[in-house]
Amino acid sequence: MRSEKQRLTCSSCGKEFFARVITQVDFSLSEDREINVTDGGLFSFRCPHCGTEMRFNHYLLWVNQSHTVAVCNVTGEEELRAMDEALSALSAFGKSSDMARRYVNSPARLCEKIEIFSAGLDDRTVEIVKLYLVQQVRASHPKKTLTDVLFFLNGEEYGFLFLCPDGDLTVSVSQSTFAEAAAQFQFPDPAPQVVDAHWAMEFLTGGKK
Ligand SMILES: [Zn+2]
Repeated sequence: MRSEKQRLTCSSCGKEFFARVITQVDFSLSEDREINVTDGGLFSFRCPHCGTEMRFNHYLLWVNQSHTVAVCNVTGEEELRAMDEALSALSAFGKSSDMARRYVNSPARLCEKIEIFSAGLDDRTVEIVKLYLVQQVRASHPKKTLTDVLFFLNGEEYGFLFLCPDGDLTVSVSQSTFAEAAAQFQFPDPAPQVVDAHWAMEFLTGGKK
């Protein structure tokens, strides 16, 4: 685990404070496996002046146990270079030079990718399944406004949380249904470094709008 002291500004009282921000979690290290990376707590901070708890989006690189996948939450271009350097340092210790990389730009997306890769799934399949589910949810709830969809592990099933301003919806998909869907697609390697709804749409339409 790597962390650094960062100066943050409280969104409530406006005062500045220093906080320890975790910037790298490497699941090949036993102490890092104790860190809960999927509850969003690494992005949550309490202001020492007024006690308000708030969230900050910050750089965080997560690497899985077998060093095959790296997911990085980036908030700016310069952090992509930081990720390169961090991964080169890791590959100096072993077999990580061909690690798959994913960039995301929010804590929620980072947590989602970690859930997907921890379950041994391909995030490309997940994004395509999401598009199909969006169509289904739109058909069955025509009055709902869908702002986003997030994958999560829901016991033995795969959950899809539809974020809606007027109340979220959850759709569950069994592992066998998901596997059937996954079997329909073949993806070219290497995977792109950004896999999201836009990527899935381009993949399904062959780049045609
Ligand atoms: Zn404050």
